[in-house]
Parts: sequence; C-alpha cells; structure tokens
Amino acid sequence: MPVKQAEFFVSNSDPAKCPKPDRPEYAFIGRSNVGKSSLINMLTSRSSLAKISGKPGKTQLINHFIIDNEWYLVDLPGYGYAQVSKTEREKFAALIDGYLTSRPNLLCIFVLVDSRIAPQKLDLDFMANLGERGLPFVIVFTKTEKLGPTKLQATLETYRDRLLEDWEEAPQFFVTSAVTAVGREDILSFIRPLNEGYKKK
Ligand code: GDP
Repeated sequence: MPVKQAEFFVSNSDPAKCPKPDRPEYAFIGRSNVGKSSLINMLTSRSSLAKISGKPGKTQLINHFIIDNEWYLVDLPGYGYAQVSKTEREKFAALIDGYLTSRPNLLCIFVLVDSRIAPQKLDLDFMANLGERGLPFVIVFTKTEKLGPTKLQATLETYRDRLLEDWEEAPQFFVTSAVTAVGREDILSFIRPLNEGYKKK
C-alpha cells in the first residue's frame, strides 16, 4: 500500500527541539550523494519532498516528515564529506549523537549504502556504533538498477561477508532504486508491522 500523505513537519539543528516522540519514527542516513533524498521521494511517491541537492554538506539539519499522520520519517544529514573541517565533523557527530540518544520512539535506522561502492570504513564504523548502542538498523542498497543481477548478487554477498567479520548476524538488507522504485513496497511492508507493534505498547 503506497504512502497516502507525506508532509514536511520541522527542521532542527538541536536534537532537543525535535518533535515530541509521540509516534513511531524511522531515520534515514548515509554518506552524502548516496541517494537519500531520492530514496525518500521514491518511498513517499513524491517528486520533491526531500531536496535532491547538488551541493552536499551545506545544511546539517534533522528533518522530520510526517507520513499518513501515523509515523515520522527522519532525514538525517549525510556524513563523510572529505572537504569539511574537523570542527564541522565534530558538530555533525554531536548532532547525530544527540539525536540517536534522545528518541525513544526511533524504531529503526535505515543506513544507506551505494550498491556500486565496496564496503567503506565510514559506513561500517557508523553501523558498529549503532550496534554498540543497541540501536536497531537495516542496510538499504541504493542505485541498484545500475548493476546487473549477477553483479548485484555478488555485491550483496561481499557486503554480507564483510559484516560477518564484525557481527554474528548480518542486519537485514533492502535492495532499492529510486529510478525503478524497486524496494519501495519492501521497506513500507517492513515499517507497517513495526507501527502496529508500537501502537499496541
Ligand atoms: P543524497 O545526497 O544522499 O540526498 O543523494 P541524492 O538523492 O541527491 O542523489 C545523489 C545523486 O544520485 C543524484 O544525481 C541522483 O539523481 C542520483 N541517484 C539517486 N538515487 C538513484 C538511483 O536509484 N539510481 C540512479 N541511477 N541514480 C540515483
């Protein structure tokens, strides 16, 4: 079932000012240019809910969107710009850290990785950090229509093998493309029962 309603709610540079944690929340994060804005637009069937930016790294805001009046989709700033200063990186780390530690309603973090790029230390470190905090996350492979089925399968296996060097179990994977909308129903079908479970609590 597609998203019916998707609206921008609020942007924050201070995690303490994020909306009251009164409904289930899912955060999307990844390196700049991974395809996060495109994925958010694809998931919500909107052409420009999240900005597809040519200038990465300018604004470091936590963006809340409200979906079907039921859950929050959170667009977190992209990480890993080579050109930013140490101070900027520290500001970013504090922002993400503040966010991750202040959302009891955060049911899952979607960590986006570009399917065309080999496992990167930055992404693996970020996932390790989530694991240490006991925060649930899944991996979303973006731009997968660029790979043929054989190459895609090999990429997924390489990634899984790399993760299994650090983890006993690999997290769940989603294969997506903002171009073909592959993965939309898979991700929405993953979110729905979590929302139902949250309501029952
Ligand atoms: P963000 O910086 O992570 O928000 O990434 P964007 O959504 O702005 O996308 C970065 C670039 O990747 C843009 O040129 C997009 O058109 C392109 N892109 C995003 N998703 C896909 C996809 O699924 N397939 C292909 N081929 N390109 C994509």
